[in-house]
Amino acid sequence: MKPPPFEYYAPTTVEETLTHLANHGYDAKPLAGGQSLIPMMNFRLAQPSVLVDLNNITDLSYIRPDGNGGVFIGAMTRHKKVGSDPLIAKQIPLVHEAIPNIGTPQVRTRGTFGGSLSHADPSAELVTVSVTLNGRFRVRSQKNERWIPAGEFFIGSFTSALEPEELLVEINLPCLPERSGWSLMEVARRHNDFALVGVAATVTLDKKGNCESASIVFLSVGDRPMQAHQAVGLLKGQKPTAELILAAAEKASSVDIDPGSDIHATAEFRRHLANVLTRRALDEAFNRAREN
Ligand code: FAD
Repeated sequence: MKPPPFEYYAPTTVEETLTHLANHGYDAKPLAGGQSLIPMMNFRLAQPSVLVDLNNITDLSYIRPDGNGGVFIGAMTRHKKVGSDPLIAKQIPLVHEAIPNIGTPQVRTRGTFGGSLSHADPSAELVTVSVTLNGRFRVRSQKNERWIPAGEFFIGSFTSALEPEELLVEINLPCLPERSGWSLMEVARRHNDFALVGVAATVTLDKKGNCESASIVFLSVGDRPMQAHQAVGLLKGQKPTAELILAAAEKASSVDIDPGSDIHATAEFRRHLANVLTRRALDEAFNRAREN
């Protein structure tokens, strides 16, 4: 299938892009890596009459320190660049470990950080990881600029808080404090498929070795990244023993999420995977926190 006809603009600046988005509103869509948008257009699942190609805007591709140990990532930065960047590997290792799970090398060469977030796929690694890390996103329109916390950005299946005339321009990811650990665990039928279930976790220990804070977020179990608040409540202030980790995994998989069944997996199987993966992720995260 080929996409229906569309008008095509290839601006070289963000300002020009914002003008096109303001002029065309709901009819227009930004084109980033095209790894999701073009297949959706070919299948007629998306039918924008205007495409605003972001690929000539060199200003949107960068990785910079934010001055507080975190990073700023330009929206058009390709997955491949993020995955091989030494600053990301050192300061935001959860993202470094997430990138190889995204599709194939071809997808990672074209696909962009901002495109993945804007697409708001509840099975996407970067969507989940950015919520786990408490990231925030800089969004611009012709008239306005705002920062949206990752936890408020994903509002439904393939639906974000972006207005039609808004462009995601930059992502800010903070680094984890001292005595922190992280983990990303997922199960996919074949390597590089979208995960049946995945979980990203971060934990921070206090000086006595108790759990000071934690974040546990699932992918592929709901219409957006699903945060395991109840499980985190169990962990806080407690010594992270094997029993506590088992109890947190049980709480996360039985109370915090309500996965559905589809042709890939039943709800019951997804809960089982969520339980096992949470246990493994918390084990790894707490071990790393002790080492740090
Ligand atoms: P595009 O496809 O160009 O755009 C996606 C959507 O976001 C469009 O609606 C577009 O208008 C909008 N958009 C893009 N940029 C912006 C912006 N800056 N501001 C506002 N709106 C914007 N992803 C995973 O996470 N895990 C996987 O395992 C995985 N496997 C894949 C396997 C295959 C075979 C393919 C083709 C894709 C896979 N993907 C996977 C998706 C991939 O990560 C894409 O890169 C990503 O979903 C979209 O990024 P993109 O840059 O290609 O965006």
